[in-house]
Amino acid sequence: MYLCSMSNILDSDIKYLTGIGPKRGELLGKELGISTFRDLVYTFPFRYVDKSKVYAISDVSSSTAYIQLRGKITRMGMVGEKQGKRFVATLSDSTGHIDLVFFKGIKWIQEKLIINKEYIVFGKPSIFKESFNMVHPEIDQVSDSAPAGEPSMIGIYSSTEKLKSAGIGNKVFSKFVMTLLSKHLSQIPETLPDYILKRHKLCPLQYALKNIHFPSDPKALSAAQMRLKFEELFYLQLSLLKTKKKRTQESVGVMMPKVGQYFNKSFANIPFELTGAQKRVIKEVRGDIMSGKQMNRLLQGDVGSGKTMVALLCCLLSADNGYQSCIMAPTEVLAQQHYAGVQKTIAGSGIRTALLTGSTKAKERREIHQGLLDGSIHILFGTHAVIEDTVQFLRLGFVVIDEQHRFGVNQRAKLRFKSEIAPHILVMTATPIPRTLSMTLYGDLDVSVLDELPPGRKPIQTMHLTESKRDAMFAFLKKEIALGRQVFIVYPLIKESETMDYKNLEEGYELITREFPAPQYITAVVHGQQKNENKAYDMKLFAEGRAHILVATSVIEVGVDVPNASVMVIESAERFGLSQLHQLRGRVGRGAEKSYCILMTGYKLSKESRQRIDLMCATNDGFELAEADLRMRGPGDIEGTQQSGLAIDLRISNLAQDSQILQLARMTAEEILDRDPSLAGGENALLVAQLALMKKQDELVNIDYSKIS
Ligand code: ADP
Ligand code: MG
Repeated sequence: MYLCSMSNILDSDIKYLTGIGPKRGELLGKELGISTFRDLVYTFPFRYVDKSKVYAISDVSSSTAYIQLRGKITRMGMVGEKQGKRFVATLSDSTGHIDLVFFKGIKWIQEKLIINKEYIVFGKPSIFKESFNMVHPEIDQVSDSAPAGEPSMIGIYSSTEKLKSAGIGNKVFSKFVMTLLSKHLSQIPETLPDYILKRHKLCPLQYALKNIHFPSDPKALSAAQMRLKFEELFYLQLSLLKTKKKRTQESVGVMMPKVGQYFNKSFANIPFELTGAQKRVIKEVRGDIMSGKQMNRLLQGDVGSGKTMVALLCCLLSADNGYQSCIMAPTEVLAQQHYAGVQKTIAGSGIRTALLTGSTKAKERREIHQGLLDGSIHILFGTHAVIEDTVQFLRLGFVVIDEQHRFGVNQRAKLRFKSEIAPHILVMTATPIPRTLSMTLYGDLDVSVLDELPPGRKPIQTMHLTESKRDAMFAFLKKEIALGRQVFIVYPLIKESETMDYKNLEEGYELITREFPAPQYITAVVHGQQKNENKAYDMKLFAEGRAHILVATSVIEVGVDVPNASVMVIESAERFGLSQLHQLRGRVGRGAEKSYCILMTGYKLSKESRQRIDLMCATNDGFELAEADLRMRGPGDIEGTQQSGLAIDLRISNLAQDSQILQLARMTAEEILDRDPSLAGGENALLVAQLALMKKQDELVNIDYSKIS
């Protein structure tokens, strides 16, 4: 059997691979995290280039990635001084010229190149002073390139400057992999049980590894990719689902079967009918809190879908059953607003609430601590401050975390220890997460979705304007204000020192107050550098309708609810991500009036910025935008994934493109766990071994994580 992991060849230290040794081994570890044979074979090319194709120099364009050129060196020599000193050789073919540039390894390349000799050059063009060049390309003499029998598809690996200057370019790197595979491929143990391979017609690991690095043809490459993607996603899902199963089996949850006066009296105060989605989610939560198991539920709902009401009703149920609860928000403004927002609903019900934030005064703070300890406070609202160690509850039973992505897993864990029995946890997010992503990020949580907006919302009309339309835009704002509406104007968060390309808030504020002079117009301003009391004062001014305009940085992104505001102007909109833009837009359209979102940008936009802006103008649907965002930027950049504590460190799968493989992987994992929950069966021994290996690797990574937080 190959299960004995002790003797797995892949555990060998990378320095023992022929051609590497201690020095290069250390460098590979530092630069790419490669410290074992396994790390090396699982470092896959991020793209492939067909080396049988040679392009004309005139074909090079700004969108060209790696290409191969063929031509003569017509000129070469040193250029520049000091830091900028470099060796430049000009390659020419019948269609044009391109400069090949070397900052390092100059002596070697100088000796290698001969004027008027023909070379094959392989690299990635970049633009320098309005013409194309190639920095540190691979160069071969025509005679010694691509010997017969060499595969024409070449894998391109990520690299770093340090590696390149140590002579470990793509060619050398792929030679390392080749060495490993040619010596040890047959010793590499299979990682998926036979029955899974057969059922999904996946190729064996050895075949996959060989062809992912050195594809014999495109078909073999896609078989290899399929197999390796499946393996990656399958084990991720298996481990998430196993955690979830274990937790639901072992966990003990606070029982909350009763619906009592706190709930009923407050419910009677609600001036509107709950949406179908709100009712459904409350039912789902009730199911959980009567199950005797601890609830861990993610509530996703687009901006304005009414999450706060759901959260409040849950907390009231908790109170009816004799338990305290708390609602955490990412910012003070938001915590305050939650707190203030629920007061009308709970009036007369006997529920006692408190607000605890960083700016709560010492005396009040002590009183709140006391009230939590003796149980007289039922619901605590607050920011991160509520998870400080000094805050103790008498009987904490329910915790709501709003805007999940700003809280790390560690912080969530901290809350769990605030009472003997872990409280139920409802995590709410207004950043819609595509299903593929939430399956992976929150694969161990149950998910509820508020997919229905309260009735009467008019869709927000989104427009894209450039500077030349600014006057017209201001005129439009004046018209809206004359109709009694209010206006948000948002600037990107900018550190003072940054270039003046983008209007910063201060300039903006000046411009706005000149254009909209007092006393006819009142302009409030809110930003991160402000003192809390000033911020609160200006916020209040706007929230109460006494200011017409609120100039702000993206601090207002989350939560702020001013139903009378009908226009959201976003300055330098190209600087915001899609989900952020959508969040901001969600600040309007909350009253019954028709609302507008105006995206101001410069004239010149990158392709991606334009796509983002166009998408914003095309749809109001947060989930659609989130899917698009994922496709455009990849999961690593999606807001919240970094802080989620579950780094999506996928080696080969792409959550945006591989959703079908992901579904398949998840289904397979579910079926296996349903049949064999503890994976005790002999046919699953391999799965257990792989999970253990993953855990070991995770732990290695986690050391860093805990240091940061
Ligand atoms: P979000 O999901 O963005 O947190 P909120 O909870 O802030 O949304 O709700 C947005 C607004 O909609 C609030 O003013 C809230 O009172 C109102 N609201 C919530 N549920 C309903 C409903 N069922 N019908 C009408 N208005 C509702
Ligand atoms: Mg909210």
